[in-house]
Amino acid sequence: MSIETGVLYVVATPLGNLGDISPRAAQVLGEVDVVAAEDTRVSGRLLAHLGQSAQRLLSLHEHNETARVPDLIQQLSEGASVALVSDAGTPLISDPGFRLVAAAREAGVRVSPVPGPSALIAALSVAGLPTDRFVFEGFLPAKSAARRSRLQALDEERRTLVFYESSHRIEACLGDMTEVFGGARRGVVARELTKRFEQVADGTLDELVAWLAADADHCRGEFVVVVAGDAREERTAESASVEKVLGVLVETLSTRQAADIAARITGAPRQALYREAQRLKNLQAGEDE
Ligand code: SAM
Repeated sequence: MSIETGVLYVVATPLGNLGDISPRAAQVLGEVDVVAAEDTRVSGRLLAHLGQSAQRLLSLHEHNETARVPDLIQQLSEGASVALVSDAGTPLISDPGFRLVAAAREAGVRVSPVPGPSALIAALSVAGLPTDRFVFEGFLPAKSAARRSRLQALDEERRTLVFYESSHRIEACLGDMTEVFGGARRGVVARELTKRFEQVADGTLDELVAWLAADADHCRGEFVVVVAGDAREERTAESASVEKVLGVLVETLSTRQAADIAARITGAPRQALYREAQRLKNLQAGEDE
């Protein structure tokens, strides 16, 4: 089956192991008029591996996508076939291409997927955490305060959480997850998937922090972090209001004072309130950094 004219093909490429390119992806890349690539050097190496010419490569990245779109849509409307690829995995998944695909659909151009690798699905497929429902969060914010507040917003999410992370922030990211979700929550760190140094570590968040610290090599490369959803009992309205009272008190009082007063107001056990007050204080301290 040969490729069609006037179609934008969104082509997934390997995450690291070139053997993961599908025969159809190779065929489409070999036959289209234009290969729009996030980085022409990276995709040039893939085309060379496939024995294909790099002459049809056109760069399309975060910074030039808006400027490139009108011309590409024009070419597609005139019958050219275009393949969109990113450096690794599936385009648009934390990668460029959204503006081109949206504009193509708007212009009535057929957009056709050539599915294949994506780090988030590869990680989920081996994590051993529930996959019937999951949430893909992509990259967390780079700054700790913003990262913690994003994690805070996810604290009660019951679906499995999937994050992308780089080597620069993997330790800080796991540290913040431990702080916000609690060290007992289960997770998986999937590193360098499909590559020579692939590793998939599982355990509690506390154990994963220790695993990262145990060997500098554990922090190198590319990462997907998968975290179990919140498995605590549904919070009752009563426990929600206890938390609210404590949240207000820790803003101005010491941990002990806040726990004492919250215990008198709500009748909840002082020890549990003290631990919760400590957790809230730590979070506040992180936000003030
Ligand atoms: N579009 C890609 C996809 O479909 O997975 C993701 C692109 S995003 C810019 C790059 C991030 O994906 C990395 O920082 C890492 O979090 C994750 N990633 C990509 N390749 C990976 C691999 N081989 N192992 C683990 N994570 C990977």
